[in-house]
Amino acid sequence: MSAHHPDDFTLLDYSAGSLDVAQALAVSVHIAYCRHCQEQFKKLNALGGILLSEAQPASLGAESQADDERVAPREPQAGTDDGFEALMQRIQSSGEQQRADEAPRERGFHNPLNRYLPASLDELAWKQQTREIAKFDLNKIINVPGARVALQKIKAGAKVPTHTHRGNELTVVLKGSFSDELGVYHAGDYIARDPSHHHSPTAMQNEDCICLTVLDAPMRFTGPFMRWLNPLMAWKG
Ligand SMILES: [Zn+2]
Repeated sequence: MSAHHPDDFTLLDYSAGSLDVAQALAVSVHIAYCRHCQEQFKKLNALGGILLSEAQPASLGAESQADDERVAPREPQAGTDDGFEALMQRIQSSGEQQRADEAPRERGFHNPLNRYLPASLDELAWKQQTREIAKFDLNKIINVPGARVALQKIKAGAKVPTHTHRGNELTVVLKGSFSDELGVYHAGDYIARDPSHHHSPTAMQNEDCICLTVLDAPMRFTGPFMRWLNPLMAWKG
């Protein structure tokens, strides 16, 4: 079970289909590892299904309370929170129908990278960036304008030079583990970083660490002796 998850808003956007393909890939890879987010995703899908199937959106309000016997009695001054509670109860009470609906969705919990990668992680045509960092570019396979999608392999015990980002960086650990100033991350963990973060990930000593990374702008090295790496690590396009 992962210890680092997408936040609720990201999961909501994912289940609503409003993330771009690159972001959605990162979330879906995490979900394949994470039972907690699988459950959250199922709930959000059920919630979305109920909202979509409502003939009258006003049924969240006070007028339709009496229309639906499955909704538990509420205080007269029902507010928005109460409406949300009622929805959650209806999700639970319509469990039979959900189970039928869930079957096809659960197939999505398989790691989608298995479909995209031409070989196993160990057999990919990795391109060395430095002696300790290799990359496998996924931009040709997952082409989202402005996004940079790749697998990164950090040699066991190696440290990635301190860097920051002009944009946001999503990382999902696929194999091994790494640490940075904010924590330790293992297979399945989902890490979102914004331009305010300066970090220097270090792979654990025992094995190489392989991560999926999604950047919406090139990374920028900030250490005094590492600036020369910037053009070397810059992404094409
Ligand atoms: Zn999770």
